[in-house]
Amino acid sequence: MFRVEPCLSHELYAMSSGGNEARLVKAATEQFNKLPFYHSFWNRTTKPSLDLAKDMLSMFTAREMGKVFFTNSGSEANDSQVKLVWYYNNALGKPQKKKFIARSKSYHGSTLISASLSGLPALHQKFDLPAPFVLHTDCPHYWRFHLPGETEEEFATRLANNLENLILKEGPETIAAFIAEPVMGAGGVIPPPKTYFEKIQAIVKKYDILFIADEVITAFGRLGTMFGCDMYNIKPDLVSVAKALSSAYVPIGATLVSPEISEVIHSQSNKLGSFAHGFTYSGHPVACAVAIEALKIYRERNIPDHVKQISPRFQDGIKAFAGSPIVGEIRGLGFILGTEFADNKSPNDPFPAEWGVGTIFGAECQKRGMLVRVAGDNIMMSPPLTMTSDEVEELVSIYSEALKTTEEKVA
Ligand code: PLP
Repeated sequence: MFRVEPCLSHELYAMSSGGNEARLVKAATEQFNKLPFYHSFWNRTTKPSLDLAKDMLSMFTAREMGKVFFTNSGSEANDSQVKLVWYYNNALGKPQKKKFIARSKSYHGSTLISASLSGLPALHQKFDLPAPFVLHTDCPHYWRFHLPGETEEEFATRLANNLENLILKEGPETIAAFIAEPVMGAGGVIPPPKTYFEKIQAIVKKYDILFIADEVITAFGRLGTMFGCDMYNIKPDLVSVAKALSSAYVPIGATLVSPEISEVIHSQSNKLGSFAHGFTYSGHPVACAVAIEALKIYRERNIPDHVKQISPRFQDGIKAFAGSPIVGEIRGLGFILGTEFADNKSPNDPFPAEWGVGTIFGAECQKRGMLVRVAGDNIMMSPPLTMTSDEVEELVSIYSEALKTTEEKVA
């Protein structure tokens, strides 16, 4: 059996059961021996895909969901969301309601459409993106963008007002959906400011705009709740998941679709003969068998509670270094954590890029056996959801040593 180092502190928010889960390997092997492949087109599918869909619908309790559509990745899940929403609005006789609003610094994937939804300039530059139907609204990063004296609640109100103004400027009848990660991941680990989702949801509801929760990194326990929607009281119309769905042992993603939307899509498809969207590997039986086992493990081990229990030591242990002269902000919750290096504790005083502060820190961690994600001077950590207290201590101690050495090199 292979063994992944316990200090794997960034696995792209994906390998939630850690790198050594024999039950997932067994589930794959058994399914390979039973039925290695069958497709899910033309009203056919396999038992694992039906069982997995049932499990997912019963586990998602923020609101009732009606159907699951399987993909191979998070990007495909978000691409599929756009097609589902367009098909739905066409069926409702609203062909002009097609634009999507996403947020600056969001990450939704790297296919043409999911990269368009993403709000990271590098994903657009030289790719002729974003596609013209995508608009971007504010990044909800309080530390970086709040006005002097503005509270978190006031900041959230301002962002909700800006969203409303954008909708009114474009014409509410042209806006189909709003998409958001409950906690922004690849953009630098940015949890929402207090009251943000409550205010944003009120605005999108007011203008008959669908809410898509991109839970590709937050689903299945990372925040200490089964879904990010549970943490922030989000009642989405559509949800994207991937990564932890199979603990990344095999590729699989999915969209969860509300009963209202799935019923409209279903009756429209009946009229047209079929719903002409899908992938050869949608609902791949081996991927579904692994995912069924992964979800079983999360439920049996009560992973959200485990994360809730262990995360204070992880979060407080790392946030204790917030006073470091080279740290601008440390932010996160559950098992997701970001460190942003900056001079003078200010978002307006980045270190010169050529100093490579983030890169130095990442290399110091790696030397000591811990992998973190480095994006410029943003460091991201997302350990497996099975992380134990002892592993937290090891992780905090490596972080501490790497930070000290980085401080000495930068000073
Ligand atoms: N959505 C979010 C929030 C993500 O973090 C990611 C990947 O990191 C994606 C979508 C894209 O998923 P994938 O890489 O499986 O296509």
